[in-house]
Amino acid sequence: MNMERHALSDKIRSAEKIVIKVGSARLSGPASEVNDFLFQLVSDIRYLRDLGKKVILVSSGAIARGRLLLNELPSSISAGDSLSEKQALAAMGQNRLVNLYDSFFSKVNLSIAQILFGVLDLESKEGYKNLKNTFTQLLKWGILPVVNENDSVATEEVKFGDNDMLSALVSLIVEADLLIILTGVDGFLKDGETVPFLKKIGKEDLDLAGGPSGPGTGGMFTKLKSAALLSEAGVPTAILNGNKMHVIREFLDHNSVGTLIAPSGNRIFSEEDVKEIIRKNKNGNGGNHL
Ligand code: GLU
Repeated sequence: MNMERHALSDKIRSAEKIVIKVGSARLSGPASEVNDFLFQLVSDIRYLRDLGKKVILVSSGAIARGRLLLNELPSSISAGDSLSEKQALAAMGQNRLVNLYDSFFSKVNLSIAQILFGVLDLESKEGYKNLKNTFTQLLKWGILPVVNENDSVATEEVKFGDNDMLSALVSLIVEADLLIILTGVDGFLKDGETVPFLKKIGKEDLDLAGGPSGPGTGGMFTKLKSAALLSEAGVPTAILNGNKMHVIREFLDHNSVGTLIAPSGNRIFSEEDVKEIIRKNKNGNGGNHL
């Protein structure tokens, strides 16, 4: 490991505020897989908390859990992909999702709080400020915020796009020191091999990255875009395989798994800058912050 990576490893180990993003696929497979994943996640977050770190969880899965629930109903209704169907599924699934988290986190004595918001909530000065204050207060009390987009009221025109971008925006709002994105592959892959370290994200990396392959709306492309935004803000991002045993702990202690995207700048993103990114990214337009 070279000097630069050594310094970055130290920065990562000493990160105080960490945002962890979980995608829909981790939460909508067979129950045994979901449970295994949650056991690992909960134990790794407990580990981070015992080290004195503040953690925020950004979790997708409302629509996917709603779909599971609908499929279990005796009425044999099946939902498609229209906006109203997805919004109704999110309304059904979000509370199940949070109940699931609550049942797991309570086993390790962590209390959680749900935060749902949308693009429109951030447009007003008060909305942005209040959201920031709520995060600050919860973290001060040692409560773990579990964040999602308020899907049931967002329309296609006023959506953050995907939860990868949402996790980057939350990282900027709470001034996080590290973003960890858990996914179903080992990281950013080139010719089938995981790229362990990216100093900067270039156009060729984005061209190589694919779209979504499961129930979520993101894909490697949106993960790299989100990491690029944070890199500009001086915040490293790790893309890790959420199916690996204690992958968060492993990453923090040894930095030897997944793809780590280094910070490349130290731009301070003001409230106006964050709002500008949201405007550009609305409905997954991708923005042009690269
Ligand atoms: N907010 C959506 C959900 O909870 C997921 C969006 C995404 O996949 O990025 O179902």
